[in-house]
Amino acid sequence: MALLQLSEPGQSAAPHQHKLAAGIDLGTTNSLVASVRSAEAETLPDAEGRHRLPSVVRYLEDGVVVGHAAKAEAVSDPLNTIVSAKRLLGRGVEDIKSLGERLPYEFRQDHTAVPRIHTVGGDVTPVEVSAEILKTLTQQAEQTLGGELTGVVITVPAYFDDAQRQATKDAAKLAGLNVLRLLNEPTAAAVAYGLDSGSDGIHAIYDLGGGTFDISILRLNRGVFEVLSTGGDSALGGDDFDQVVAEWIMQQAGIQDDAGHAMLRRLMRDACAAKEALTESETAEIKLELDDGSHWDGSLSRETFNQLVEPLIRKTLGPCRRALRDAGLGADEIEDVVMVGGSTRVLRVREMVGEFFGAEPLTSIDPDRVVAVGAAIQADVLAGNKPDGEMLLLDVNPLSLGIETMGGLVEKIIPRNTTIPVARAQEFTTFKDGQTALAVHVLQGEREMVSDCRSLARFELRGIPPMVAGAAHIRVTFSVDADGLLHVEAEEKSSGVKTGIEVKPSYGLTDNEIEGMLRDSIDYAQKDLEARRLREEQVEAERVIEALQSALNSDGDRLLNAEERQQVETQLARLVEIARADDHIQIKREIEALEKVCEFYVERRMNASVTQAMSGHSVEEFE
Ligand code: ADP
Ligand code: MG
Repeated sequence: MALLQLSEPGQSAAPHQHKLAAGIDLGTTNSLVASVRSAEAETLPDAEGRHRLPSVVRYLEDGVVVGHAAKAEAVSDPLNTIVSAKRLLGRGVEDIKSLGERLPYEFRQDHTAVPRIHTVGGDVTPVEVSAEILKTLTQQAEQTLGGELTGVVITVPAYFDDAQRQATKDAAKLAGLNVLRLLNEPTAAAVAYGLDSGSDGIHAIYDLGGGTFDISILRLNRGVFEVLSTGGDSALGGDDFDQVVAEWIMQQAGIQDDAGHAMLRRLMRDACAAKEALTESETAEIKLELDDGSHWDGSLSRETFNQLVEPLIRKTLGPCRRALRDAGLGADEIEDVVMVGGSTRVLRVREMVGEFFGAEPLTSIDPDRVVAVGAAIQADVLAGNKPDGEMLLLDVNPLSLGIETMGGLVEKIIPRNTTIPVARAQEFTTFKDGQTALAVHVLQGEREMVSDCRSLARFELRGIPPMVAGAAHIRVTFSVDADGLLHVEAEEKSSGVKTGIEVKPSYGLTDNEIEGMLRDSIDYAQKDLEARRLREEQVEAERVIEALQSALNSDGDRLLNAEERQQVETQLARLVEIARADDHIQIKREIEALEKVCEFYVERRMNASVTQAMSGHSVEEFE
């Protein structure tokens, strides 16, 4: 019989107390916080009524400024004002170099692989910068809601890898937040539109922000979301729209390329204002202040603007096509297209995307806020405010995960685009007699060779009982949790020896790299296959050579006469020679030839070992 539950003295036993929870869209350009209040999810404003917080943090000698005030000084104090920290989250020093020289910061590197940005307020990491943004959003939410948050859901791009997700969680921890879950941005947008309670179907989420473009294809299957594929361009967004408008103004106003910094700053500001005005009106008036204090007056029509930005919009359709292909779908199979990100306010974007997918895009929820709104709905459920509304959201891992096997080959354990959470196991065995330890090298990527994939972590399984090569059964289990974080465990089954690690790589991948790795895996598929075959034969040759050498050492003198030994050793030397070359067919042939030459020797060894095993025993024992 179940016991009745009693609460502690002085504590409320109210069963329906609403827990304060929030959804946070930690964006590259802007961040937002939202919460469910009286059954409505809405973004929460700051004291001045502004909902969007610029993701900008400025470090002073004696303090930190976050948001609008920091953004205002981004141009005058670029070294101490950190913008787009999200691009650096979970990345190593090497990754950041590949992000280009556009970053104005002074990077420092200590003993860890985490880059630090030097500011007048001290050296800071991207995790710390993100934590400042999260702290500000939390204060904003707690002031509006009038209480402490019990938990938050933070959104991340669907393609974020392990390191980037872990870094986001670390930032939340640093900000003192309880993370209920990391949620993929496109999934959050779909939840905001209530697509999860609709009928099963496939949806595209088109997210064009300030500096990034992401496309995700989701499938709703009995109330469960799966991310079928993702794609995008990490260097394409509203900033590029500003750029083409600015170039147009320069041309019209006869401004030279070598105009000063202040001039260019005014130009970009006016270009952005004109762009945003054109979503409401047919023409935008521009009044640009020139260096001599006079003004250039002009007007930009929506038609001209459309012509200027069309090539940029078209550039987003390539990744859309690829994402469809990855998901194995045609554009006509997409039911809804959800528009996310400030740049999808541009009418021409909506038109071209609608044409591409052959569906009217969903735009009724503010594209700036839709991700935060969806995260808030999910946070409300996870905080336990809807006891019967448990929602399971599935995502995919963006790149295959595997381990290194003999010969520098990668054995994939969880292929890319597998829905998560997921756990997969595979059995491996030892390579040498008496091997008592096993090195597990965890890799991410699509290629066949270790050197072409990304190393995530290494660990060792020790204490394997000594056995002959191939006798041990080592089960390696990969599990990826709902936040997309990887845990690897290895266990030797006969002894139960076990070891595992939480994979926390010190660096991550850029999404360009992810794209590049995917492209390479297609381009190199044939070459990789050849390389794989070669390595496999080389490993086999090594095994044969080693076994034969150790046999010759132990009983070669006893079982072979000089001539026979000469014959075996000649063939052995041939194999050693051939195994170094790069013809796998030839190696296979030499292995077979060696096995043939050794047949009589193997037979003698077997007889000898039987004789040896029987000596000292009576014959009856073996019957
Ligand atoms: P992110 O996800 O990168 O943080 P946002 O979704 O906040 O970015 O989008 C910011 C971009 O949206 C900026 O380039 C901004 O100029 C653009 N934007 C905002 N409002 C409009 C508008 N009315 N028309 C066109 N672009 C807009
Ligand atoms: Mg965004």
